[in-house]
Amino acid sequence: MMLFRTASATHVGTVRSVNQDAVYESNDLCAVADGMGGAAAGEVASTLALETLTSHFAIGGLSSNSLERAVIAANAAVYSASLTDVSLAGMGTTVTAIAPVATDEGDRAAVVNVGDSRCYLLSDGELIQLTYDHSVASDLVRHGQLSAADAAQHPQRHMLTRALGVADSVEVDLVEFPTVAGDRLLICSDGLTNEVTHDDIAAILFDERDPTDAAHALVDAAIAAGGHDNISVVIVDVLVGDVGPTERALSYYDTSPFQEGLGHSSDDLTGAVAAFSAAAVLEARDVGASAGHVEDDDEDMAHHALHEAAMAASTTYSNPVEASIRRPRPFTLRTVLFFALVAALTYGGYRFVGWFASTQYFVSVNGSTITILQGQPGGTLWIKPLVVETTTSTTGQILPSRLADLQHGVPQPSVQAAHRFISNLIEERTAAVNPGVALTTTTTVAWNPAWTPSTTVTVATTIPAVTTTTAVVTTTTAPTTTIPATTTTTILAG
Ligand code: MN
Repeated sequence: MMLFRTASATHVGTVRSVNQDAVYESNDLCAVADGMGGAAAGEVASTLALETLTSHFAIGGLSSNSLERAVIAANAAVYSASLTDVSLAGMGTTVTAIAPVATDEGDRAAVVNVGDSRCYLLSDGELIQLTYDHSVASDLVRHGQLSAADAAQHPQRHMLTRALGVADSVEVDLVEFPTVAGDRLLICSDGLTNEVTHDDIAAILFDERDPTDAAHALVDAAIAAGGHDNISVVIVDVLVGDVGPTERALSYYDTSPFQEGLGHSSDDLTGAVAAFSAAAVLEARDVGASAGHVEDDDEDMAHHALHEAAMAASTTYSNPVEASIRRPRPFTLRTVLFFALVAALTYGGYRFVGWFASTQYFVSVNGSTITILQGQPGGTLWIKPLVVETTTSTTGQILPSRLADLQHGVPQPSVQAAHRFISNLIEERTAAVNPGVALTTTTTVAWNPAWTPSTTVTVATTIPAVTTTTAVVTTTTAPTTTIPATTTTTILAG
């Protein structure tokens, strides 16, 4: 049997006005979803995905098959919702989930992943990433065209190559592995991993023994580092595992090069990931599993990567037995291959999802002119940001302290939101240079069908001096209400 203790935390961050992440936490299933899409759509996508995932998994039973089918059902639910409501068109979400499942070999933990939210395992003091990001940058790393260190800074690291709810079918990564009492698993959105380094995440997970404290410490670290995105974490502590440490430590395969890589810098992660991929692809071929997903080129690449890993191993450790004595590894070949199965599955498809590029906007500057662009700051290798509007606003109308952000590009869910963001910046400077003048800001929040006239809504603003404000809903269609003294918050019907 397996017994989990879980905790979770989610936070809007310091820049975004809406939290489009969703988290779910129970003893049978834990999940994080990071929604994307204009206006309210991202929030709808992540919430609907987790509702569908949890309800289908509850019905389907505690198996990997059931978990995978629940993800496919969630994909269908989000995709059909995006087709039925024009305001939700093009929405999508990541999903990463973990559940205890029963297999012929006993109980296992199963992890499913689509997108760039991640699952990590902290075991024996080392933090191992169990999932692959389905992103342009991550694919380049896997193809050896980019180092992992460069990928972390790559302007297209957010651009997904796979997401839930953007097509009528979805490819799901699945990995199963045995757990040991004391294992700690982390599921998180990229709002954590883009702000906090691998080593810092490991240190927090190691130091904060209480899962709730650890969840909050991770969120606090991401906010301290900038909090540019929504941040969500779920922590799963394995109180009772399905194997003992000695069982999992019975290693007949020298995993040291992989483990060494994973335990250290992100540079090393490249080699480790390649090696995992290689082992997994080869194993997939050997056992006939997932053969349909593996392409010949990939197999060649896998052989090559494995060879490279073997070479690296031989230079690091002349004697595998001696190596394992020096630093015993608590993983069997099967465990390593299960961790790596994720990698094999990702080799199956490089279908590029362009929707993310075309449904996102950002505000930047061209000389002294503030412009609104479509796409991602920096563009992708082949899709450059498109200038959709050269505004009449200039950098002289905003606070100098805002310029750096604008030069980098500040994402906005829509052109309308971009306009509001710009006028907020201008208001902010006006207020700063004219003390005593009321500051009028406009923030758009997703319309919630549960709201009625008189509902009080708390809204996060983009103005540093006014982090949150409240608005009272006055009508059910396009309510506008004035907040005394400082801000005006507009609630748009979605
Ligand atoms: Mn995110």
